[in-house]
Amino acid sequence: MALFKNTLTNLSFNVLNKSIATLSALSETHQMLQKTCRDFAEGELKPIAAKTDKEHLYPKKQIKTMGELGLMAVSVPEEFGGTGLDYLAYAIAVEEISRGCASAGVIMSVNNSLYLGPILHWGTQEQKEKFITPFTKGDKVGCFALSEPGNGSDAGAASTVAKLDGSSFILDGTKSWITNGYESEASVVLATTDKSLKHKGISAFIVPKPTEGLELGKKEDKLGIRGSSTCNLIFEGCKVPKENLLGELGLGFKIAMMTLDAGRIGIAAQALGIAQASLEVAAEYSSKRLAFGKPLNKLQTIQNKLAEMALRLESARLLTWRAAWLKDNKQPYTKEAAMSKLAASEAATYLSHQCIQILGGMGYVSEMPAERHYRDARITEIYEGTSEIQRLVIAGNLMKEMGLN
Ligand SMILES: Cc1cc2nc3c(=O)[nH]c(=O)nc-3n(C[C@H](O)[C@H](O)[C@H](O)COP(=O)(O)OP(=O)(O)OC[C@H]3O[C@@H](n4cnc5c(N)ncnc54)[C@H](O)[C@@H]3O)c2cc1C
Repeated sequence: MALFKNTLTNLSFNVLNKSIATLSALSETHQMLQKTCRDFAEGELKPIAAKTDKEHLYPKKQIKTMGELGLMAVSVPEEFGGTGLDYLAYAIAVEEISRGCASAGVIMSVNNSLYLGPILHWGTQEQKEKFITPFTKGDKVGCFALSEPGNGSDAGAASTVAKLDGSSFILDGTKSWITNGYESEASVVLATTDKSLKHKGISAFIVPKPTEGLELGKKEDKLGIRGSSTCNLIFEGCKVPKENLLGELGLGFKIAMMTLDAGRIGIAAQALGIAQASLEVAAEYSSKRLAFGKPLNKLQTIQNKLAEMALRLESARLLTWRAAWLKDNKQPYTKEAAMSKLAASEAATYLSHQCIQILGGMGYVSEMPAERHYRDARITEIYEGTSEIQRLVIAGNLMKEMGLN
């Protein structure tokens, strides 16, 4: 969108420090983006979020509008059809969108960081033109296929294989839990090209859809984020041209890990949006509901809950923005991205749980959004690395930093 085509300039650490202290001190571009996303989420996403959830509806029209707003390719340079903003902008946008509808948040996050991200980093000029530009406007989305029925956390154990056959690779195997699987028109797929090299024998491929030999499994019936599709991608003798290899042979595991580092900032932001929405529902309800002759928010126990909720939310937001800032400034951010996802996802689970508690019975029924936020929050502790895996990443990097590994 024209509004955001002007690339951010000189986001200094001081500016970020100030912005961390108060939302209003974000750079003008970030504030404008935040307001645009907030208005859109309030006007177009919040009203459809309950129906999207209940009926498992992919929010096609809203995703198209998000594409027009520049939100489906926030950090892709303008030359490839993207918005050309930084990763902090992306984190702010995902939070605001997820505050309105967590399903829209994950559809956006997967397209931006898991699909476009690796192609932007490792793709050839031709791959970028073919597989990035048409996926920037919301009418086409992509997906990322790493997990398998037999391995999720242990991603290096991929059993899907890709064998070179003349000018093509032939893919065989099943990828599971793939977000955007149904709607996607291309995917980044990780497959083993040399089993003897273990994780160093994994390569990444761009597979368009439809392609002969690629079938979809059933749509998973999920606890939350029910407006986004999740399914298996089943490869049986699926022929992919040699030129669709992403990066070099054997680079797949590195591509996957670096993609997830960046992706975790997006999931942290999604969790922040769910947590923020929970806080707002709880605060508003507690100001109106009377108990023992006064509003709930005048009761100290409820005030303690609201204070703890705000504390966890804002702490997680600072970690998320710091991770984004480090990425934008080309500094190592693996540990900080893991910290942000861990803190934000656990904050989302805590806040949505407390939100239900503050609403009492009204928190337990679908008339209010509290129970949906609770269900939506749960996945943020699982995908793109469970909380247990984030702790392993944090501890491993900590030891490395301290020279103790
Ligand atoms: C809705 C949804 C959408 C998803 N979208 C995608 C997608 O788009 N693309 C994709 O590739 N994948 C996707 N996933 C898969 C997701 O990333 C995996 O489910 C996740 O990484 C966990 O893997 P797993 O389910 O195999 O659990 P497992 O790896 O079997 O883990 C089970 C439990 O054991 C714990 N555990 C495992 N290893 C260790 C360890 N070393 N130390 C301590 N604890 C450990 C885990 O933390 C977890 O609690 C999605 C999953 C869901 C549910």
